[in-house]
Order: sequence, then structure tokens, then C-alpha cells
Amino acid sequence: MLLRLFLLLIGALATVLVAGPAKAQAEFCDRQIEDFGGPALANGISLHSLEWAPFGSTEWGWETYVPLMQQELGTGCAANSPVFARRLADFQTAHQLPSTGIFDPATFQIFRGLWQERRPFIMARVRDEPCPDPPPLYQLGYLVASEEHADRLTRLLRRDVLEAYRRMVAAARAEVPEVANDPELLQIFSGFRDPEADAARCAASGNCDGLRRAVCSPHRTGTAVDLYVGQVVGLGVDNTSPPSRLHMSRGATYRWLVRNAGRFGFVPYAFEPWHWEWVSPVGGYAGPPPPS
Ligand SMILES: [Zn+2]
Repeated sequence: MLLRLFLLLIGALATVLVAGPAKAQAEFCDRQIEDFGGPALANGISLHSLEWAPFGSTEWGWETYVPLMQQELGTGCAANSPVFARRLADFQTAHQLPSTGIFDPATFQIFRGLWQERRPFIMARVRDEPCPDPPPLYQLGYLVASEEHADRLTRLLRRDVLEAYRRMVAAARAEVPEVANDPELLQIFSGFRDPEADAARCAASGNCDGLRRAVCSPHRTGTAVDLYVGQVVGLGVDNTSPPSRLHMSRGATYRWLVRNAGRFGFVPYAFEPWHWEWVSPVGGYAGPPPPS
């Protein structure tokens, strides 16, 4: 009995240590919760095997989206843990879905909707508003060389966004050893894109996400940034294949962004781990509300 208690304590301590300093509150991720062992097991299986097409083309598993989901659910616990399943069940209840605690594409669509709603550029598009004009040149500021990624030179960003970006990078360097040790991480490989040049580039490369993107990219606002968050050797910095995005989502840099970019006014685009949009004046957006 005593030995069992001791082992439980050791297990709990290990979980807290592994979860790291980011989780200030002790969270006992391997604690068993009645009725959620089964869902946890099911999630652990589908995490790598579910065949689905959340963004139009087929992918397998949903690990790429786990950091964003954990942030939304207010837990650092793994996707195959009972705690995660319980939080997911609460989320499903709150959004009028069957409260199974089991991940499924319908539940993901709710997450995706919430994330998209935080992007004013996308919401304007949903409301069929005309594409926003690019900012006047005097509102744009120049990146310094160390902020530009070598793969694709980009020079400009709206000044206020550039300042927010600089504050964010300074915080990331202070808080994430991986970023402190690698100046390439969080460099910008696309900032402000002149709409005319963008349309030409897209036509020339044959790489347009439909005509719409060519005509109206969020990068025309000077508030969207593509940040280097690592890459699979041999694949591009903005390669959208599932293995590429999975690799990026596993990195400490992306995970830090998911938890912290909101402090600096940036919101994610779930499909592209590198693409962030600045949405708020000084410290406005602070992430999703904590779970009740
Ligand atoms: Zn982008």
C-alpha cells in the first residue's frame, strides 16, 4: 500500500517535471479519471491514424493541431491523457456537441471556427467585404537584416506590428533556449507584400491558393508575418505537406508561440504554423479565456 502510494507520488512528480516550468499550476496529467480512460485510449490511437481532410486534402492523425487545442482547452496534458479527454468533453458540451471526450472532425471544426473568428481579415472576407487597401507607405517600417530570413527576403512590415514582433522575439529569446541559441528561429520570411507583386509572383510560380489569395492576401495589410519555426530538411520553410507541418508543430518555438503570441497581439492560422496575424493594439488579445 505504502509502496503503491510512493510510486503514485513519483509518477505525479515526474509528470510535473516533464511538463516543465510553463505549467505553473501542478497538473497531474496521468491521473485516472473515471469514464475517461476509454476516450483517452481512443484519442491516443486516432492521434496518429485518423484519416481526414480538415483543410481539403487528406492527412493522417491530428497531432499537428494538439498545441493549439491544448491552449484552447487550458491544459498542457498530452492528447492521449484522461485529463485531455475530460477537457475535450467539457469543450464539446460547451459547444452543443455530443460530450464524448473523443476527438473527431466535427469537434475540430468548432476549434477551427474559433481560431478563424479571431482573424479580422478572415471575418471581413466571410462578410464579403472588399479587400482592405494596403497601408500607406509611411506606416511601413524596415526590418533590420538580422530579422530577415535568407530564403526569401522581405523588407517591410507595418511599424506598430514590427514593434510588437520585436517585443515578442525578445521575450521568446529570454524564455526559450532553442530560440536564444538559433538566430534563424523567428526570422521573418514574409511580411508586407505589395498586392501587385504578390499577384505576379503567384501567377509566375503557379502556386496560388485560388485567385482569391492572389488578389487578396492578408500580407497586403502589413500586419501578417511568416515566421521561421524550423523545417524538415529538404522541404521549404512554408511547405504545407503534413510531415512538414507536423515537424514545425513539435518544435519548442511554435509551441511557445501558441502559448504566448497572444500577449503581443498575434493570432495563429491553424493550417500554417509559420503564419501569424497581428490583430490588436497594445496587449489587447490575451488568448482564449481560461476554462471554467
Ligand atoms: Zn503568411
